[in-house]
Amino acid sequence: MTVQPNSVEARDQAYQLHSYTNARALERDGALVIDRGEGVYVYDNNGKRYIEAMSGLWSVAVGFGEQRLVDAAVRQMSILPYYHTFTGRTHGPSVDLAEKLIQMAPVPMSKVYFTNSGSEANDTAMKIVWYRSNALGKPEKKKIISRVKGYHGVTIASASLTGLPNNHRSFDLPLSNVLHTTCPHYRVFAQEGETEEDFVARCARDLEDLILKEGPETVAAFIGEPVMGAGGVIVPPAGYWTAIQAVLRKYDILLIADEVICGFGRTGEMFGTTTFGLQPDIITVSKQLSSSYQPISALLINERVYAPLADESAKIGTFGHGFTASGHPVAAAVALENLAIIEERDLVGNVRELSPLFMKRLKALEAHPLAVEARGVGLIGALELHPRDGFAAGQLGPKFAALMLDRGVIGRAIGDSIALCPPLIVDEQQINTIFDTFEASLDAFAKEIG
Ligand code: PLP
Repeated sequence: MTVQPNSVEARDQAYQLHSYTNARALERDGALVIDRGEGVYVYDNNGKRYIEAMSGLWSVAVGFGEQRLVDAAVRQMSILPYYHTFTGRTHGPSVDLAEKLIQMAPVPMSKVYFTNSGSEANDTAMKIVWYRSNALGKPEKKKIISRVKGYHGVTIASASLTGLPNNHRSFDLPLSNVLHTTCPHYRVFAQEGETEEDFVARCARDLEDLILKEGPETVAAFIGEPVMGAGGVIVPPAGYWTAIQAVLRKYDILLIADEVICGFGRTGEMFGTTTFGLQPDIITVSKQLSSSYQPISALLINERVYAPLADESAKIGTFGHGFTASGHPVAAAVALENLAIIEERDLVGNVRELSPLFMKRLKALEAHPLAVEARGVGLIGALELHPRDGFAAGQLGPKFAALMLDRGVIGRAIGDSIALCPPLIVDEQQINTIFDTFEASLDAFAKEIG
């Protein structure tokens, strides 16, 4: 791409540091400028249309250009554009949203705490777990276990929970009291001769061995996404969560369900917790909570977590935690309207109705000579490409995603997997277009790389 002087691309190169980007490559190549969106489509600054088959970052459930969310924001802006929830203050939108989330919760929950991003929610979860352990007179119970390839964010604590090398490398992470256990990706992590059932049993055994090695009295919580997203869309084998939770219960370890991607319909239920039979003590949500029209996230905590926390705050005199924008009224109003749309339009029903087509077409790609594995559930999936001589691991994915982008479909390369996660409003024809394009791109890629 030739970058014109003074263009948005050129000024972007001059002034902006990008997330998850090779900064030197961006200085050379420039960024893709997205100007506007409508439904499942976005348009670049040359007017080219793309199907946003990743919902932005797994988040724009109701699609782009939803006027009801614009109106909700404007309405709230003109009534009360900002207020906080510190020191015994509150406002209607945060209360309404907290009440709504408690009503929607897939397991009994007691209170909602608002944050602004998935990372902040998980960071806060970790602090709350520590605070609780101190409140219970168990100051040694502080370690948190997450999983290899789990993704929980990028703050110092949440990046530590994340189990991906690029979130640790050169950042001096993870923190020492975060431990990572086996990733439930059968094809990659199963040992020779292990059936899926054996593998599940070993995942549970690995977890138990780790707990015993560290000392059960030192382990406070386990965090996991019902389905791993940014680690490559890894759907755990049947029985995985039952086996893991049995171990957690045995050693009195809290379960944190990171529903930042799964929450609000992605898996074909309102929460991944329901799809996979989790009984979490803390649930973190973001992304589809507001369709990312506004930055907002939340933790739902049960009474087991809330009661000691409340006691500790009474002892100290305060729960010394809070963000200026926690429960921001405009973000809360937009989230409420977004949840209303998800319910009124039965978007979870749409996921259930279209998932068989989505999965059939995804699975069909597995037969392509370039492919090694298709994985998915609901309306989230990925196709992994075969390793290939002459290409380092992780090189094929981005090349392929660029080819699909040229053909007007935005997927996301995660190493050599290509993830799809279309808006929940997607229809049958659009799903077919996504997969027709995927297939044509695979054929073209096969020709290109020989
Ligand atoms: N948890 C999960 C499961 C995620 O997928 C993400 C982001 O992709 C996060 C947490 C972090 O959220 P954020 O980028 O809003 O900090």
